[in-house]
Amino acid sequence: MKVLRLALDVPLPRLFDYRSDAASQADIGKRVVVPFGARSLVGVIVDVGVDTDVPLERLRPAGRILDDMLPLTRDWLQLAQFAAQYYQRPLGEVIHTALPPRLRRPRSLQGPPEAYAISDAGRAALATLGTRARARRAILELLVDGPQSASVFPPSAPLRALIREGMVVPESSPDPVPTLVEDHPLTPDQVVAVAEITASLGRYQPFLLAGVTGSGKTEVYLRCVAQALARGGQALLLVPEINLTPQLQQAIAHRLPGVRMVTLTSALAANERAEAWLAAQSGAASIVLGTRLAVFAPLPRLALVVVDEEHDLSFKQQEGVRYSARDLAVYRARAAGVPAVLCSATPSLETWAHARAGRYQLLHLPQRARPGSRLPTVRVVDTRTDVPVEGLTSTLASAIDQCLARGEQSLIFLNRRGYAPVLACGACGWASGCTRCAAHLVLHTADRRLRCHHCGYETAIPRHCPTCGNVDLAPFGRGTQRLEQTLAARFPTARVVRIDSDSTRRKGQWERIRESIASGAADILVGTQILAKGHDFPGVTLVGVLNADAALVAADYRAPERLFAQLYQVAGRAGRAQAPGEVLVQTRFPEHPLYQALIRHEFASYAETLLAERRNAGFPPFVHEAVLRAESDDMRRSLGFLGEARAIAPEQRDGVALYDPVPMTLARLSGRERAQVLAQSSSRRALQSFLADWSHALYNLKASKVRWHLDVDPIEF
Ligand code: ADP
Ligand code: ZN
Ligand code: ZN
Repeated sequence: MKVLRLALDVPLPRLFDYRSDAASQADIGKRVVVPFGARSLVGVIVDVGVDTDVPLERLRPAGRILDDMLPLTRDWLQLAQFAAQYYQRPLGEVIHTALPPRLRRPRSLQGPPEAYAISDAGRAALATLGTRARARRAILELLVDGPQSASVFPPSAPLRALIREGMVVPESSPDPVPTLVEDHPLTPDQVVAVAEITASLGRYQPFLLAGVTGSGKTEVYLRCVAQALARGGQALLLVPEINLTPQLQQAIAHRLPGVRMVTLTSALAANERAEAWLAAQSGAASIVLGTRLAVFAPLPRLALVVVDEEHDLSFKQQEGVRYSARDLAVYRARAAGVPAVLCSATPSLETWAHARAGRYQLLHLPQRARPGSRLPTVRVVDTRTDVPVEGLTSTLASAIDQCLARGEQSLIFLNRRGYAPVLACGACGWASGCTRCAAHLVLHTADRRLRCHHCGYETAIPRHCPTCGNVDLAPFGRGTQRLEQTLAARFPTARVVRIDSDSTRRKGQWERIRESIASGAADILVGTQILAKGHDFPGVTLVGVLNADAALVAADYRAPERLFAQLYQVAGRAGRAQAPGEVLVQTRFPEHPLYQALIRHEFASYAETLLAERRNAGFPPFVHEAVLRAESDDMRRSLGFLGEARAIAPEQRDGVALYDPVPMTLARLSGRERAQVLAQSSSRRALQSFLADWSHALYNLKASKVRWHLDVDPIEF
């Protein structure tokens, strides 16, 4: 009898033992169906042995070991193990977060693979197989000269046995050797970047590819991907947003014809996602392109890791296992001994600090790649003297006019969706508030709803004030819907297109909008930070920025970094083709260093300013942080739990500071009252070891009616 040690998706920081008669070491990394209470769960076998703390007679028997896919490799399990340890979550939870949902269900996958191949073990076995195993021998012999289509092999017991023993492995038709379609010669800076990265193929080397917008960073990493593939490797390409995948997918298909690429995002149907995952695992897919969850794709021949727009906060998962896909991507590159390329025009301060310290090699692309394309001229428009009407200063309005007259496109950035951030009563002061969150309900006039942007709660627009009956309720402030209306009224001949998560929510919408922009069927684009994310709109020559000042006074210490990145990226949309671009930023604080840096396109010097501030204030990257959060239906209960949690924290703190419990900035969300305790240390190692001990103690703390979690390297407070 053997003991199976399993990772189950159960919120307990431990593994679970079951017994099995038939299991062997070869089953490590396979999925198995087991009884858990009254349910059936899928576990992943992380060890097979004989030792267990549970009396043998109390071990429950495991059910079926699923043989419908290759086992998860040791490397992959190590990645999950690292994430579990670093982010302080149970291994079972991490593994089940990493697996596509389809693989977590206690049902076998359907559909045979496209083809089969013989493994090294199979080759070895062929030499020793006796004549009695005629059927198995026949199958192996068919595969000796190369993979064969699955249609050659009808399902049979010998075939299943060979697959189970790992002698025959599923495969899909192999890729042709990739050839890169070369559009244009590289710029000298690009040549250097490509040379440095490709020279590192085969060993761990992190790079920061920092280049101004339009400097050809994509071009650089595509060439490196081609080289990695030519060496028989696989490439992992992470992007921050689902909407960026189609664009990149097209570019890759065009540049590397015939190469098999899969995308992995949460937008895929369950079967598609499982198929993409399996194609990565079998090695059939040479390129995996995806959002943060793709960092867990199994890649047996991983040769290159690329994280595009590495500064983007969406690489950090904000629920469940709160991992940073960017950081795990670098860990993966190190574990696999391959280069990692982090790309951005506005790197995160964390990454920038690594590059300054020489831990990451800095590759710089200071100029736009397209011949004749220059960085746009950035100007500030002082709203104290040029007072906006309906959000638009006369300077910006006339710039839009001229842009229209030239037949070019303009882009107006306002990082707030909806019609107005709040609906209010002038008579009594009532304001539309969410019943479940400490937040306002946003007015959406397109479908006449009030909507909470935090919890999704929505309700009809009231006809009169709920407190005093006044029928004159007025929208306050301005969102993209209102701006869209204003622009349409002000420039009646212009075709105005709004781009925010409301207008791009449904499948295919964003692509249609993108096509209409590309084909010139739009004159004015109005949108939120979606526009700041790496899109290429060659026809845009004017960018207007509204209401950016709000972020300058935010309490979050990351707000200026984020604002600078956003504005820099948005500004970078202007004049990417031949026509020169202009950017107008409306502000009450034209002298602010952030805007001044923007005018001069000076990422590096502004990053230095911000880093100096962070150093003085004792913020990351100069300290490492984690928070313990608690939420319940009552703030006192949440704070009370955190008080107890703080009290049982290990005495031995070793340079780890633990602060008092405080309510979160958004103290109430979806009816839950939220508070947190911050832990800080200048030593990551000290913080990690403190968290491991603390987390252990926390699981033993009684938490009635309180939900809690640890968040390592948090970005929300
Ligand atoms: P980034 O990712 O740095 O913003 P991209 O890689 O998207 O920049 O390149 C911006 C534009 O410049 C693209 O249209 C691309 O085709 C073009 N481009 C890139 N490299 C070159 C080059 N060496 N010569 C001419 N055009 C280039
Ligand atoms: Zn009222
Ligand atoms: Zn809400």
